[in-house]
Amino acid sequence: MKLACYAASEENSLGREFKEPQPSHRNQFQRDRDRVVHSSAFRRLEYKTQVFVNHVGDMFRTRLTHSIEVAQIGRTISRALQLNEDLTEAICLAHDLGHTPFGHAGQDELNLCMKEFGGFEHNLQSLRVVDVLEEKYAEFTGLNLMYETREGILKHCSRSKAKELGAIGQRFLDKLQPGLEAQVADIADLIAYNNHDVDDGLRARLITFDQLASCELFCKELTVVSKRWPGLSKKKMIHEVKRRMINTLVSDLIVTSHGNIASLNPSTIHEVRAAGKPLISLSETIAAQNLQLKRFLNKHLYKHPKVEKMSEEAKQVIRKLFDGFMSEASLLPKDVQKNIEVQEEEQGSLGKARVIADYIAGMTDRFAFAELDRISE
Ligand code: MG
Repeated sequence: MKLACYAASEENSLGREFKEPQPSHRNQFQRDRDRVVHSSAFRRLEYKTQVFVNHVGDMFRTRLTHSIEVAQIGRTISRALQLNEDLTEAICLAHDLGHTPFGHAGQDELNLCMKEFGGFEHNLQSLRVVDVLEEKYAEFTGLNLMYETREGILKHCSRSKAKELGAIGQRFLDKLQPGLEAQVADIADLIAYNNHDVDDGLRARLITFDQLASCELFCKELTVVSKRWPGLSKKKMIHEVKRRMINTLVSDLIVTSHGNIASLNPSTIHEVRAAGKPLISLSETIAAQNLQLKRFLNKHLYKHPKVEKMSEEAKQVIRKLFDGFMSEASLLPKDVQKNIEVQEEEQGSLGKARVIADYIAGMTDRFAFAELDRISE
């Protein structure tokens, strides 16, 4: 398919940090996607919590299935807007690589543990995974991804962190937008989690149809489905409503973004970056309905007493692991200890804490439990 003139392409790309020959059977962005799929961090997403702690039930989303759903939604939007579908897919599949075990509870606690050492942010960590932590290639550290893929992975960044990051952080200092593929991946993430969390929440019986009736987006589709198929099983009802909600959001996003692009009429990716605001967006009406749903989930699902109880336990595991390794580094695997020696020499306790945070962030939920058991013996 022909790409729009403002899409990211191999021709207008800022390329890879370490120059590599052109791939023979794929384009550069397909190569990036494949590097993500073959990474260790990607495999570990299978056993990392999205909202529901991974070991509680097998039927809920994990970080891996979440990332695959984000990629599906992102690809559809990209294709419809004549953007670079391969780049969008690579960003979507990589966007959560830096997530800790136990979902947001894990990230919040690790951030607290790292307070004196520069903090911990999963977004920055995703970039760190692909830039530094993956050990796969003889000639370079990390995955040496294309600039545009890395730009998409780094969704947010404070000014102080941006200064430390160099070229990839520069857009936060210059107040530039990322390319449209990155903007698509960002909203695809939001669409995916809002909808699959409704699905998981209903099936886990933590939220109900009656409660969700207060959300316009849900209520509208529920009315359509119940009218057309009265007496439909709950299982099918949930899916029929969810697929319609995703369709409403995706269709609205495509039409609205199309309009935004048409009114700016950019002829290059540079004009997209300098646009002053994102061009990929939902209409005001649907954005408000989507926000209403997000707030609903925040209140009734993410803060549900059962979820909070799991989160509390998770935070304790992270805290005990961090404190345990900080006070007794000999408890860590030999290669991690070696890395600490190198980093401590360069940056003192800051270096040591960062290596330990990297080690903990890379854990799956069950490995974190196993590590805690091991060091508590
Ligand atoms: Mg995500």
